[in-house]
Amino acid sequence: MASAGGGPRGSVRPERHVQTGRGGNGGSSSTRTKSAPPKRPSSSSAKSSIDSDNAADAIRVRVAVRLRPKNNEDFIEDGDFTSCVELQPEAKKLRLKKNNWSSELYKFDEVFTEGASQRRIYEAVAKPVVESVLEGYNGTVMAYGQTGTGKTYTMGRLGKDDPSERGIMVRALEDILASISSLTDYVAISYLQLYLESLQDLLAPDKVNIPIVEDPKSGDVSLPGAAVVELRDIDHFNELLQFGEANRYAANTKLNTESSRSHAILVVHVQRSVKVKDENEGASVVSSMDDLLAASNHVPIVLKSKLLIVDLAGSERIDKSGSVEGPMLEEAKFINLSLTSLGKCINALAENSPYIPTRDSKLTRLLRDSFGGTARTSLIITIGPSARYYSETSSTILFGQRAMKIVNTVKLKEEVDYESLYKKLECQVDSLTSELERIQKIRQDEKAKIERKLRKQEESLAETKRTFTTKCENLEKENDCMTMEIKKLMEELNDERDQNKILSGRIVEMEMSLSQNKQQQLENSTYKKALSDSTQMYEDRIKALLEQVEKEQARCAYLELEMHGARQVVANNENSSKMQENSKVNELQKELRKLKEESSNEIQHLEAKNSELLSEKDLIYEELKSMQEKVMQEAKHRRSLEDEILKLKKVLSENSALQLERGTSMLRTTSGVGGGAIYLPRTGKSRDTIPNQKDTISKIFEEVGLSNILALLKSEDLDVQIHAVKVVANLAAEDINQERIVEEGGLDALLSLLETSENTTIHRVTAGALANLAMNGSNQGLIMNKGGARLLANVANKNDDPQTLRMVAGAIANLCGNEKLHVKLKEDGGIKALVGMVRSGHADVIAQIARGIANFAKCESRAISQGHRKGRSLLMDDGALKWMVTSPTTFSASTRRHIELAFCHLSQNEENTRDIITSGGIKELVRISQESTRDDIRILAKKALNSNPAFLREIQ
Ligand code: ADP
Ligand code: MN
Repeated sequence: MASAGGGPRGSVRPERHVQTGRGGNGGSSSTRTKSAPPKRPSSSSAKSSIDSDNAADAIRVRVAVRLRPKNNEDFIEDGDFTSCVELQPEAKKLRLKKNNWSSELYKFDEVFTEGASQRRIYEAVAKPVVESVLEGYNGTVMAYGQTGTGKTYTMGRLGKDDPSERGIMVRALEDILASISSLTDYVAISYLQLYLESLQDLLAPDKVNIPIVEDPKSGDVSLPGAAVVELRDIDHFNELLQFGEANRYAANTKLNTESSRSHAILVVHVQRSVKVKDENEGASVVSSMDDLLAASNHVPIVLKSKLLIVDLAGSERIDKSGSVEGPMLEEAKFINLSLTSLGKCINALAENSPYIPTRDSKLTRLLRDSFGGTARTSLIITIGPSARYYSETSSTILFGQRAMKIVNTVKLKEEVDYESLYKKLECQVDSLTSELERIQKIRQDEKAKIERKLRKQEESLAETKRTFTTKCENLEKENDCMTMEIKKLMEELNDERDQNKILSGRIVEMEMSLSQNKQQQLENSTYKKALSDSTQMYEDRIKALLEQVEKEQARCAYLELEMHGARQVVANNENSSKMQENSKVNELQKELRKLKEESSNEIQHLEAKNSELLSEKDLIYEELKSMQEKVMQEAKHRRSLEDEILKLKKVLSENSALQLERGTSMLRTTSGVGGGAIYLPRTGKSRDTIPNQKDTISKIFEEVGLSNILALLKSEDLDVQIHAVKVVANLAAEDINQERIVEEGGLDALLSLLETSENTTIHRVTAGALANLAMNGSNQGLIMNKGGARLLANVANKNDDPQTLRMVAGAIANLCGNEKLHVKLKEDGGIKALVGMVRSGHADVIAQIARGIANFAKCESRAISQGHRKGRSLLMDDGALKWMVTSPTTFSASTRRHIELAFCHLSQNEENTRDIITSGGIKELVRISQESTRDDIRILAKKALNSNPAFLREIQ
């Protein structure tokens, strides 16, 4: 029984109804007729009784008979009498014995003896129907029989104390709940009692007289007023069943009736989701959510089926009950109405009658489908063994026999669950769309990121390339310088080496001559020896000669004596011989003297030679010494040169590192010289009157017209002229007017005014107008072509009024910003005039000059770097460079920056190197590289310094 507070009632959902609940009743659902499941054997004998064109399977109502065991009453009443029924369970036959000699044999689908277990009953009678219900067919299991024969025992037994006693209801629900998926499927029950043609809800006892509704199209019977409780589990069902039984008991007590007089109807609603792979394959039951998702490409089919388990009221005849009077009679009539009506219908169906009176009672209306309808139906008829109730048993058996003839056409009720299909598809579409969107967003973001990255990379690549090329160029230059220097050094070295070689050759020569000398010395000594030898020899000979002389003298004396003797004898001969003798001596003496002289001469000569050689030797030694010194010096020199080379290499590598640093920082800078400013001629009035003045001018412009204003420029009246120029100058400040002014001859008029007028104001305002017009590139060309630069230069040279000069300088400064005009600007004296205006010393004028020069230098530098121009800067001649280098630091910051920028640009051009060095610009360049307030300018200066070897040399 349900606990207080109505636990199961809490989960009652009275308005819920399976057939109409989800897709609406028939509105969005389609019923398909399906072939019967193969499990189910069809009765061939019954086939003849159905329409041949009926595509649905024809299945006969299966009828089983169950015999209740004898109870105490039977034993008491019948004693030892045998029962009136005799069962042949194997043959599925039942013999009903009227008496000992008369009996009838009946065949049933199943015959259960008194000992048959609840389980066997369930499996044979109800299980096939339950399985069919799970496959989507409607099904009915009914118990019919006399009161006390075990209908309730068979159907509604809870089996709380003895599980083996569980009846068909509990077992059926156990099976159903075990077979379905709690995720996708749905099982709910309604439990009702039909009593006195009134349907009461046993799950919601307040509900009485629940109407039976039939769908006119499908003929489906529904009870929209009945509570439909979705089952959580079998315990829940048991609870509900107990709750329902309690209500039934309470209702019957209140009405003073017996439960046996009422029909108990359990409606089990089963709704299952299946996937249909193919029309021919049949529906397969989905067991899980995953299966359902996997089957998403299939049409989701919802199988809706209904199982009716009916415990009918007792089938005994009222007259036998013995108490038929008053309300009981009414009751009996009504009970009879439903049961009688059921019997009539079954008869009609069994006889294949065209008219089945199903509408006669509520029971037959409810069971319309169960007999001769589209459901599978099993009927169990319960009988008692006692012969006392022969007629009741007999009528019960006959009821069963007739029911066996009824053929039902089972139909599978499938509904394409368009709503859930739609919802599911919508969900899928939503999730896919959001997924797609997410992916698209991610893709877009990634693409943008990659593009940004790519751009950055490209930029950095370009930067790196630029740096790299400048670095390369610088390195190449330095490399060239280095190789030149190395070459020079090598040449010098080679020279040194050659000289060394020559010297060493000479040394060798010297050494050779030295050794020769030595030899000569040696020779000398031999000479000496020879000399002394010859002297000796000569002395010896002289001695010998002297001896001979003595001998001769002796002989002479002897001979004198002889002669003396002979003199007389030979007086004449004597004189001659004497003379001969004398002459001979003289001769010999002479010879001797000569020899002496000769030898002494020779000795003298040899000695001289010797000393000569000695001094030569000393000389050679000295030379050798000096040579060695020289060689040593050369080696020293060479070492120092090598050191220098090493130093240079080091400097080179340091330089390149420095270059890299500077190069990259260079590229980050973007310096520019402000474009032409608008020159509104000063009127002497305060600045806040300018808008007023502008208004007036635009008014004049509108009313008088440009051509008239331009005509006024040629007026005889100076005042008119001045005002006209002022108006034109103001108009020229606006871009939109410039073109018209030029078109209508305003430029010519202004230029002629500049040429012809002597008036300073005219000059000033005209120059201002020209400055304004010169902001525009095409106008710059026109102004130049029409000789504007020359005219401006004239005005600049003639005037000293600072405001006039400011305008002129501004106009020229604007022209300086056009590289194509540079040559002509210089030729026409524009640069000279511009620089010349420095004499004014007025800050505004100086500012314009600085701007002009910066414009010029910058454009020139760009043209050079792009290869449009070559050679020395056009600014070099007219004193611009000198001014730049020597310009005082007291100038305004912007002026200084312009000058510095111009100078740095000039320094980039190698052709300007000499000029910059001679003008003393290096110091300025170094100063700028260290002190300039602007990073880009400092970098530019450093770049110039580092990339120009001449500068580097100059710094060192
Ligand atoms: P009815 O269907 O007419 O109401 P019940 O199911 O109430 O009959 O059964 C009447 C009595 O017989 C009950 O006490 C029941 O327990 C008993 N009974 C019926 N069938 C059997 C059976 N097969 N085995 C044992 N007892 C049975
Ligand atoms: Mn009963």
